[in-house]
Amino acid sequence: MVLAFLALSPSSLEMPNAKTHDSITFIMVPFTYAGAEMMWADHTVSLIATASMLFSGLMFGPDLDLNSKPYKRWGPLKLLWKPYQAALPHRSVLSHGPVLGTIIRIVYFLLVFSAFGATILYLSRVYIHGQQSTWSAEFNLIQSDMLMFWNNSDQTLFLGAFGGMWAGALAHTAADITWSAWKKIF
Ligand SMILES: [Zn+2]
Repeated sequence: MVLAFLALSPSSLEMPNAKTHDSITFIMVPFTYAGAEMMWADHTVSLIATASMLFSGLMFGPDLDLNSKPYKRWGPLKLLWKPYQAALPHRSVLSHGPVLGTIIRIVYFLLVFSAFGATILYLSRVYIHGQQSTWSAEFNLIQSDMLMFWNNSDQTLFLGAFGGMWAGALAHTAADITWSAWKKIF
């Protein structure tokens, strides 16, 4: 599968349209839940995995590297994905590799969105509440909150979340590859 992916040049990776990707994502809901149940036998983890798969398929998928429907679904926050689009070659393994792409998106998301959060917190504290603060203090606060959340949570939940996001990305890339192979043959 990875080989098939690498064999396709970016230009030959024609996409199925967003509607097809959305349908595949919805079809995968029961399978993701069942797969997670088999894996972890924990309803909470299965729910989180399924929700993560939906999130990944609809908003957090490989096509965030394009001016796509998942990108537009972020509303005004979509601008925070602009540097990601600029940095990553369209449909490269960095965005469309199911594991690598998912890891890169998670790291990017945590960094950029906590930087954004720090900016909002800093501005509201200083200009609305008239308190003293620095941007880096707010950023560090967010980082330590996230770390605390990580340390105090059951790690299986994160594994389930990652598994779900990976499944969503895998389904997307598999559909892209199947689509382009089909078009090549017929
Ligand atoms: Zn794609």
